[in-house]
Amino acid sequence: MKTEEKVVVGGPDKQYRDRVAASNWQIQCCTACEKFVFPPRVACPSCGNLELEWKTPSGAGTVYSTTTMRRPAEAGGDQNLSLIDLVEGPRLMSRIVDADLDAIECGDQVQAFIGEIKGEALVMFRPVDSTTGEAK
Ligand SMILES: [Zn+2]
Repeated sequence: MKTEEKVVVGGPDKQYRDRVAASNWQIQCCTACEKFVFPPRVACPSCGNLELEWKTPSGAGTVYSTTTMRRPAEAGGDQNLSLIDLVEGPRLMSRIVDADLDAIECGDQVQAFIGEIKGEALVMFRPVDSTTGEAK
């Protein structure tokens, strides 16, 4: 018996990565319940709606959890790893750069930007002054 395998080309995850690679960071938003969805999915995890549209988030977020991975300088040096709560709702794993890694605390305000590591475009965050919204 031959089974037909359904190959998904250009699924939500690829669409997401293609957008980031084009410096166009967008995340999905449900057209029914209007909740933002991340990571990319084919259906809204809240209501099951299959129509998700891509929207550009503000990029503003709050550090939910943070850690520093200690690495020797020849391996790239210390690196931050954080969970960031976007103001739009979703929580995503990323890294905070351009910062004193030891000074990053839960609750800090951060702003997303698209950076590049080893030729790959990635959404990263920088600290912002919570009173002015400006980069620290
Ligand atoms: Zn929904």
